[in-house]
Amino acid sequence: MQQKLISSRTRLVGLFGNPARHSLSPVIHNAFLKSTGIDAVYLTFEFPDKDLDEAFIGAKRLGFIGLNITMPFKENAYRLVDGKDARSTAIGSVNTVKFNSSTDTSKGFNTDVDGFLRSLEDKNFNWDNSNCLILGAGGSAKSSVFALMEKNIKKIYIYNRTMEKAEKIKNSYSKEKRMKIEILERLERVDPKKLDLICNCTPLGMDAPGVSELLPVSDQWNLKNVLIFEMIYKPLETRLIRKGRNEGASIIDGLDMLINQAASSFKIWFDIMPDIKNIKKLLI
Ligand code: NAP
Repeated sequence: MQQKLISSRTRLVGLFGNPARHSLSPVIHNAFLKSTGIDAVYLTFEFPDKDLDEAFIGAKRLGFIGLNITMPFKENAYRLVDGKDARSTAIGSVNTVKFNSSTDTSKGFNTDVDGFLRSLEDKNFNWDNSNCLILGAGGSAKSSVFALMEKNIKKIYIYNRTMEKAEKIKNSYSKEKRMKIEILERLERVDPKKLDLICNCTPLGMDAPGVSELLPVSDQWNLKNVLIFEMIYKPLETRLIRKGRNEGASIIDGLDMLINQAASSFKIWFDIMPDIKNIKKLLI
């Protein structure tokens, strides 16, 4: 479908973050808008932390349809919205906001859970009785654990350099649910042959000084028959992905996740699930 020319009727959707200008979200969302023929544009807004409240009210007053919220504003946006969905309430952070102009209210959502689950469903991942390893205990690890807990998995192992943060995730669940989570003091405590899914929620392997050539698992592990879920998308092929590919693992890369969580945000704003088929090639 042809995108309409920008006019006085064109609506706004935006990303609040700092940094935000490097983001791939405008490419994804403007492609979704074009393919669905919706008369709106998606832009990024980068500003200091202290300006978040005013920017948020500004977006609401100016009639934005909604927002994506990224680092470092996710937790603060949680406190600014008038209502929240169950997932963002449980996780304590919001990455998508929808404004309702008729009631002058805002609602917060967390689409990282949906993006994570859809990425696994796209690979026909068999949840039942699966053993999953989550590396890291920050924001993306928390939403990944939350997503897995919605499914019939057998065990979630969490390994993080700061063990207390992993314990905190575990302790946010009821006693019964907690039994499914095991915190690893050392990574060697788990037998890689037992694992069905390894999800890297750390920056190890990211295109940044000191971490780009690091591997978040042991080089001795054989990753055959494992599904590797890599959150990092810069670079698209991390050392973990290279190792997994060489050893016969299936791969979900950071762009799969980024596109799927974006599609869920789009659905919240416009009530249309966009076609994601041709998006990845726009980003590589
Ligand atoms: P975060 O909240 O800052 O958490 C980062 C985690 O990594 C923490 O548990 C931290 O450990 C650990 N970590 C940081 N540096 C480390 C190091 N040098 N060695 C070992 N562990 C280290 O970050 P996040 O939001 O979860 O994001 C994690 C990664 O996922 C980032 O690369 C981010 O870009 C990516 N991401 C991608 C998507 C996507 O759509 N593809 C979405 C979200 C995030 P401590 O607890 O000890 O500090």
